[in-house]
Amino acid sequence: MPDLLYLCAIASGSSGNAILIYNETTTLLIDAGISAKRICDGLALMGRSPSDLDGICVTHAHSDHISGLRVLLKKTDAPLYATDGTGQALLRETPGAGERLREIRPGADFAVGDLGLSAFSTPHDAEGSVGYCVTDGQRRCSVVTDLGFVTEEVRRGVLGSHLALVEANHDVDWLMSGPYPPYLKRRIRGDLGHLSNEDGGALCCDLAEHGAHTLILGHLSRQNNTPERARQVVGHMLRARGYDGVALEVASHQVCSPAFEV
Ligand SMILES: [Zn+2]
Ligand SMILES: [Zn+2]
Repeated sequence: MPDLLYLCAIASGSSGNAILIYNETTTLLIDAGISAKRICDGLALMGRSPSDLDGICVTHAHSDHISGLRVLLKKTDAPLYATDGTGQALLRETPGAGERLREIRPGADFAVGDLGLSAFSTPHDAEGSVGYCVTDGQRRCSVVTDLGFVTEEVRRGVLGSHLALVEANHDVDWLMSGPYPPYLKRRIRGDLGHLSNEDGGALCCDLAEHGAHTLILGHLSRQNNTPERARQVVGHMLRARGYDGVALEVASHQVCSPAFEV
């Protein structure tokens, strides 16, 4: 029986994020931006409990990525992996984070249990923001959300992934014609903001070209996007490039995804 690698989006969206990546021996959580209860419920659906967590990797210290962390830390002894910039914010905002913190550096590989990880810097309006690539030595998956645009470092960090959770935050027309105030529209569209459906779709095409079999759209805005719209735009881009065989999924704010095999 091969030791398979899985990714499960317990929740993904601008209202909260918690992504589980696991194999037989190692269980990783990327971000804890929903209630600890919902994270525990998601773990239970995958047959795990908080005490099974081997590590919690934080992408950045915005509340939609860390709001459940304080309570979750009481239910697990797992170390907390974060860059210096994110760590400084966690020390200020999350009681109990201090003794758990393990500093990571973008571009430097590290290991949690049997899994190898690397973080890559993401252009976003949070100090030390990163995405993660995780491998069991055979298969590779990545989580790339909360970025204003796709830098060369991001591309290098994610290309070659068999499965990726890619940001498709907003529909540009819906955002620009919607009710958000001008400063917020500028922030979201800016170089330190979020990827639109088209931006995420372009990265999905690159990933498909480099061998990805499953692409999961994530971090959708509730106000400026819908799962149907994101799937329509990115699906059209993939088909136009001939990548019909790639499985396209959309992660939900509310509902825990199935376990996707990497
Ligand atoms: Zn976010
Ligand atoms: Zn953010």
